[in-house]
Amino acid sequence: MDVNEHAEELASDLGVDKEEVIKDLRNLLEYSVPIDEAKQSVRRKHGGGGGGSSPTPDAVDVAEITTDHGSVTVTVRVLTAGTRTIRYQGDDITIREGEFADGTGTISYTAWQEFGFEPGDSLTIGNAGVREWDGEPELNLNESTAVAVADEPVAVDEPVGGDRDLVDIRAGDRGRNVEVRVLEAEDKTISGRDGETAIREGVLGDETAKLPFTDWDPRPEVAAGADLRIEDVYVREFRGVPSINLTTFSEVTPLPDPVAVADDAPRLSIAEAVAAGGLFDVEVVGNVLEVRDGSGLIERCPECGRVAQGGQCRSHGAVDTEDDLRVKAILDDGTDTVTVVLDDELTAAVYGGGLDDALAAATEAMDKEVVAESIADRIVGGAYRVRGNLSVDDYGANLDAEEFELAADDPGDEARTILAEVAE
Ligand SMILES: [Zn+2]
Repeated sequence: MDVNEHAEELASDLGVDKEEVIKDLRNLLEYSVPIDEAKQSVRRKHGGGGGGSSPTPDAVDVAEITTDHGSVTVTVRVLTAGTRTIRYQGDDITIREGEFADGTGTISYTAWQEFGFEPGDSLTIGNAGVREWDGEPELNLNESTAVAVADEPVAVDEPVGGDRDLVDIRAGDRGRNVEVRVLEAEDKTISGRDGETAIREGVLGDETAKLPFTDWDPRPEVAAGADLRIEDVYVREFRGVPSINLTTFSEVTPLPDPVAVADDAPRLSIAEAVAAGGLFDVEVVGNVLEVRDGSGLIERCPECGRVAQGGQCRSHGAVDTEDDLRVKAILDDGTDTVTVVLDDELTAAVYGGGLDDALAAATEAMDKEVVAESIADRIVGGAYRVRGNLSVDDYGANLDAEEFELAADDPGDEARTILAEVAE
C-alpha cells in the first residue's frame, strides 16, 4: 500500500476529504513517523479515535500551558534540540530535548523517540503530554504524539539555535553550542554506577566567562589551549556553578581563529553573577556590610576540614580540632549581596597577622572572638574588589576569594548610604 491507498482508506473511514488526509500523512511521514502511527494520528485529528487513546486535545498557546493540562496540541518553532542518553527504568534510552516557542512564550520538551525535527522547524504537535519538571510545565512527546510540519512558519522572539556565550549558560540548559578556549583539561577516572569510568574535566573560557566542563566521552582534542566549537552540550549545576557536559552526541570542531579569553576576570554586578547561577573567576566590587559568625579564629575537624564547634564535628563527633583562620564577609554592591569567603592567607592579610598572632590575642583576651572583631574593625564599611569563583546554592551565593583588595575606585558614598540603610 502506498500513501495514496492508505489515505483513501482513512478518508473513507473518517468521512473526510482525501486530499486533507494525504497532506496530514505526508507531514507525519516526513518526520519518519511509522505509517501505522501516522494513520492513528490522522484518525485522532479527525475525531476517529486512536485505538483507545483520547482524542486530540485543543490547541493552546505556549503561555497558557500549565501543569494542570494532561495533554495539549501546540504549533511551535523548535529553538533547540539536544540529544542525550539517559537511564530510564533500567534501560539506556536516547532522548531529544530542548525548547519550543511560539509568539507567546517558550517551553522545554523531552521527545522519547526520534521525530527528526531540527532547530528552526515549525511544527504542529498533537497530543503532547504535559508534566511538571523543576516546577515548570514541560512537554513530553511519545508514541501517542503526532508531529507534523506547521502550515506556516511560526514567528518567535527568541533566538533559534543553541549558540550562547558562557555568561548566558544556565544549569538545566540543553542542546547548547559554545565557542570556547580550553583553559584546563585533566583526565580522571571516577566510580560511577557502571564501575570505573574515564572522563575529562577542566575549564572552558570565552570573552564573557569561565565555566567548568566534563567530557563523558573523553576526547583528546579537548586539550588545554584548543579553540573549539562544541555543539550539543547540556548543563547541570555542579558545586554551585553551571557545568558544561559533553556526551557522545556532542560535536567538537576546531576553530580556525583563537577564541578571545579575557586575562582579567570579567567584572559583573553581584546580581548578574548570581543570576548566571554561579561562575568561575569573576570580579565584583562592593562594600563589606558585616563579618559573619564563624569568622576569625576557627576550629576545623581534622577528618573532613569542616568547621567544628566546641570540639564537635557534625559528622565525626568529638575530634581533636585544628586551629585555622577564615573570614565570611557580606559584600553588597547595591544590586545584591554575596558572602565572600577568605582563606587563611587572605585572612592573615586583612587581620595583619598569622595564626600565632591570632592565638596569642585570643589567649590574652581569653576570648577567640577578638580576632573576628579586629578583622571587622578593619574591613566593615570598606569598598573591596574581590576576584574568585562564585557559587549559588539554596542558602545563597558564596564567593571563594582568590583576591581581596581595597577598591581603587572607592564607592565610599555609596557604602555609607548602604550602611545607613542597614543601620535603620
Ligand atoms: Zn568532620
